[in-house]
Amino acid sequence: MAMLKLSRYSAYAGNPIEEEDKLAERLELSGKKIIRLNRGDPAVYFPTPRYMIDAYLSALNSGKTGYSFHAGIRELRVAIAQRHRRLYNLDPNPDSIIVTQGVSEAILFASSLFIDPGDSALIFRPYYPLYVDALRLSGGNPIFVDCKEEDEFRINPDALRKGLGQHKAEKIKYMIFANPSNPTGAVMRRSELKEIVEVAKDNEVFIISDEIYDEVVFNGEKFTSISEVSKGVPYAVFGGASKGFDSTGFRIGYAMIPEQDRQSIAIREKFADYAKMRLSSNTPAQYAFADAMNKTGVHKEEITKMVEKIAARVNFACDLVNKSKYLYATKPKGAFYLLAKLDMKRLDLKDDQEVAAGLLVEEGIQITRGSGFGAPGHIRIVALAPEEILEQSIRKIDKFLVKHSK
Ligand code: PLP
Repeated sequence: MAMLKLSRYSAYAGNPIEEEDKLAERLELSGKKIIRLNRGDPAVYFPTPRYMIDAYLSALNSGKTGYSFHAGIRELRVAIAQRHRRLYNLDPNPDSIIVTQGVSEAILFASSLFIDPGDSALIFRPYYPLYVDALRLSGGNPIFVDCKEEDEFRINPDALRKGLGQHKAEKIKYMIFANPSNPTGAVMRRSELKEIVEVAKDNEVFIISDEIYDEVVFNGEKFTSISEVSKGVPYAVFGGASKGFDSTGFRIGYAMIPEQDRQSIAIREKFADYAKMRLSSNTPAQYAFADAMNKTGVHKEEITKMVEKIAARVNFACDLVNKSKYLYATKPKGAFYLLAKLDMKRLDLKDDQEVAAGLLVEEGIQITRGSGFGAPGHIRIVALAPEEILEQSIRKIDKFLVKHSK
């Protein structure tokens, strides 16, 4: 049979975070020890809290193993709404929440429901890769607004306005950003979020704030949810269980579209239609997430301990990275990543992709090339592992860079 021609958009399916996985596996099979610092998976180093596991098991034992309501079980949507009231003083209707199979699914739904080929979306750069890939899968074009190192990777509202001004002729449907950010660890200030809301309002652009790391914020840094500053402007908050509830494999996320204007209501109904197409998200995991959110005291205790450890590891890794003559990283304020700038001019390697592949083959360290996040000339290091593993790995990265210096 002749080779079937796939959709031209299918070329955009993929993920830079996992692109070296096959090579890593091959090297491992040949006996090389690989340290993986590429996936932001807290459950590898921090056991998922006991209360979540027990709630999951209890759902299984009581026969909650079938499909659930397409938009998620009511108990979970009520628990998410109550959490938003507790943390952000917002009182959303549980019906404004659609439970998804991870935030990943919410991102895919969003691009698919907003974008016709040729439409655009505004993406803050460096970005989480799926924002761009999902958009391109629907035939959309990204318009990037750069978050600069000198602004500690937070958005500069003037740059945002200027960026939008240059694209007046394009149909910009939404803007999307992660706060706290993956890969930079930046946490946006309240005043900046307010300005973002003003810009979105003036330009009639829907806001999507990915707040999956809202509980992973370091050392008293104040986190502001978009929902605290966007009253009267249509927006969505994406959140979920993966990071703050340390249960990436449960595959539970949500989209909350709380405003009551006609547009928000229409968008959330469409969101629910997308959810109908895949019938249901993981049923026992929904019970576990609902239960965990209702256990406010225990959860706070667990997450505080976990975030303190993560903050110490990220700081430790950042200080070590900054001792290397060939790397520089801004100190993150949240999440669990380091975006480290390579001194490419002083290296005999072509680009960050060559650095990533070389590090894997020569030193057995798997990181992700920064260009996968719109930050060429950087590497992203996941700083979740215990200090001794981080120390050993960063020393190997430095050794590799010294070996490849000009
Ligand atoms: N959004 C951001 C910013 C992320 O960093 C990730 C995962 O790393 C996701 C979404 C996907 O999360 P989920 O496990 O809920 O699909």
